[in-house]
Amino acid sequence: MRPRHSDAVDGFVTAVDRGRYTCVLGDPERTVTAMRARELGRRSVVVGDRVSLVGDTSGDAGALARIVRIADRRSVLRRTADDDDTTAEGRLERVVVANADQLVIVSSLADPPPRTGFIDRCLVAAYDAGIQPLLCLTKADLSGPAAVLDYYAELDLPHLLVRPDCDLDDMRAALAGLVSVLVGHSGVGKSTLVNRLVPAADRAVGRVSAIGRGRHTSTSAVALRLPDRAGAADSAGWIIDTPGIRSFGLAHVSADSLLHGFADLAPGTADCPPNCEHTEAEPECALDAWVAAGNADQRRLASYRRLLASRAGETE
Ligand code: ZN
Repeated sequence: MRPRHSDAVDGFVTAVDRGRYTCVLGDPERTVTAMRARELGRRSVVVGDRVSLVGDTSGDAGALARIVRIADRRSVLRRTADDDDTTAEGRLERVVVANADQLVIVSSLADPPPRTGFIDRCLVAAYDAGIQPLLCLTKADLSGPAAVLDYYAELDLPHLLVRPDCDLDDMRAALAGLVSVLVGHSGVGKSTLVNRLVPAADRAVGRVSAIGRGRHTSTSAVALRLPDRAGAADSAGWIIDTPGIRSFGLAHVSADSLLHGFADLAPGTADCPPNCEHTEAEPECALDAWVAAGNADQRRLASYRRLLASRAGETE
């Protein structure tokens, strides 16, 4: 860091809205609004970034600090925007969240029924980012998890069941000390879950991408600190809600990287010819024999090939 920033203080970016960054600073803890310093160039600042700030870092009303440095990112969760594939900018790969430890995929077991295509897509995004997935199955009072869990039986995929009346102790334990990103379609109970985990957050249930005026202006990820757990020694952690994300476009993920989301299929490609695209049109792709031999579920291969074919967009 340059000497003139010797007075810089460290912060954690919790929200981004039209060029203004909300950062939480410690000791004493305060929330500061900041803008980017020109010296950052074109580097983007996203929710989850650890940054250094100068200027007015008091957090007083009207105070504006400047972000002068972005710390190296531990992980980067990306998506290719699929909400606007008509323009070059709409097709850009976007960093959604930095430094997340865990991707919590929220899916309801009924009303609406689970969409394994969406879950598969999220798994690919998580593995591509190098972060741990956690499947959170809501509305477990309406339907059992057997069908979904059977579909993922080959994967070592941790999961939690959530009922409206259950306490969330297991969930809080799984989130403790980590930065977890929550993704899920509308109607699966994600907002309800966020409100239960962080009552002070007061997020409107069913709210969609309220930050920014246009639908392309922001993914409106927001980091929320979990309340401390009684008697727990570790920190409660952070959750990052992503109300604006309807799906993960995967155009930036190569066919081989896509396989990282399918650990049950990956070993089956060992017998593929060189440069096999693993599509249905590949006559010698070894994945068909792999599935026929009972090593993986046919539906998983179908899902992988669907994602291969539709990486640029949403076909579900
Ligand atoms: Zn193949």
